[in-house]
Amino acid sequence: MMDVLLNSGSRRLNSGSRRLYFDHAATTPLAPEVIAAMLPYFNASYGNPSSIHAEGRLAHEGLEAARRQVAAVLHCRPQEVIFTSGGTESDNLALKGVALAHEGGHIITSAAEHHAVLHSAEYLAHLGFKVTYLPVDRFGMVSPDDVAAAIQPDTRLISIMYANNEVGTINPIPQIAAVAQQAAVPFHSDAVQAGGSLDLDVERLGVDLLSLSAHKFYGPKGVGVLYVRGGNHLLYQQSGGSQESKRRAGTENVAGIVGLATALTIAESKREVEAARLLGLRERLIGGVLSSIPDAILNGHPVERLPGNANFCLPDVEAETLLLRLDLLGIAASSASACTSGAVEPSHVLHAMGIPDALAVGSLRLSLGASNTEADIDYVLAKLPAVVNRLQSLKLRERSS
Ligand code: PLP
Repeated sequence: MMDVLLNSGSRRLNSGSRRLYFDHAATTPLAPEVIAAMLPYFNASYGNPSSIHAEGRLAHEGLEAARRQVAAVLHCRPQEVIFTSGGTESDNLALKGVALAHEGGHIITSAAEHHAVLHSAEYLAHLGFKVTYLPVDRFGMVSPDDVAAAIQPDTRLISIMYANNEVGTINPIPQIAAVAQQAAVPFHSDAVQAGGSLDLDVERLGVDLLSLSAHKFYGPKGVGVLYVRGGNHLLYQQSGGSQESKRRAGTENVAGIVGLATALTIAESKREVEAARLLGLRERLIGGVLSSIPDAILNGHPVERLPGNANFCLPDVEAETLLLRLDLLGIAASSASACTSGAVEPSHVLHAMGIPDALAVGSLRLSLGASNTEADIDYVLAKLPAVVNRLQSLKLRERSS
């Protein structure tokens, strides 16, 4: 049976071996306070929030308190918060909900978005919508000028992510929002990676729709938020009951929603201090990797990047083998490259940034979070160069034989 980490404080597997978790962009462990806040909604307050009796009213109160907590962080009105089953559903609801409220038209997004956005755009294209996929620069950033130039008279929505999940690059959201506002086009931003790290004030950002996912900021999996600025019409994508003001049918995941709101509130209260701490660790890691592995290349923007994101291309290294070797050393990391039917596929984000596929298959993402310390970084810096060196020499030998 697979060994598991049982709580956020644990840094060991059941077998007792030391584990260093560097995959916070994939998911984070639940904060103990979040578990504590959720527990009553699994037992004492188990009612259906739509029921009229005391049990139902108790669950309803929990749900609405959570909505107010989220609204306080986003600086919006509680009615503008829709709870969903996660970041993927929030992105789907934003794109399809806004677009399908019209009969056809044009959508603008970027080539470096998460698949939850890209595949929703593709779906709309199948239904006859025109889609513009804006390019990104070599750092993975979208230009507000490109957004402005792409707007057409029938553009229904602009969807540009806040921060990239692979390379951590932060897009100029307020500037893009200004362009969208000028043209009176609704602007959605996938802020799933930004949650807990960056400012989520929708007024300062100027966004009309914003997606979040709880499991990226020490909340539970399977619960998310879609913020929709009042007055923006959205065609529901899941039909049934009249929950979430008829914008998302289905009995709400009350415990999960309470967990999300608690996690977001905690993350916001620690955000600036924790971001500064992670940035220090990130710079130590990036500096150390670039100096100890001379041919390593940093992917993403050097400054405009998530405080916890480090992403590299390592020439002549196959990501999957590297990840397995690191795992054996107790390091949980990830790569943007996906292994599909035996072949390593380079990431669409690195491809959009103009990185050659041969280089992109050797990408390594180390994403930092609450559990990481300077000692963790030093451990990685002590182990990684030798592993990379070994894989590179094996590759060289393979080539010359
Ligand atoms: N958008 C971005 C940028 C993400 O990083 C992710 C998850 O990795 C998602 C959307 C999907 O979120 P979820 O896992 O909650 O469906």
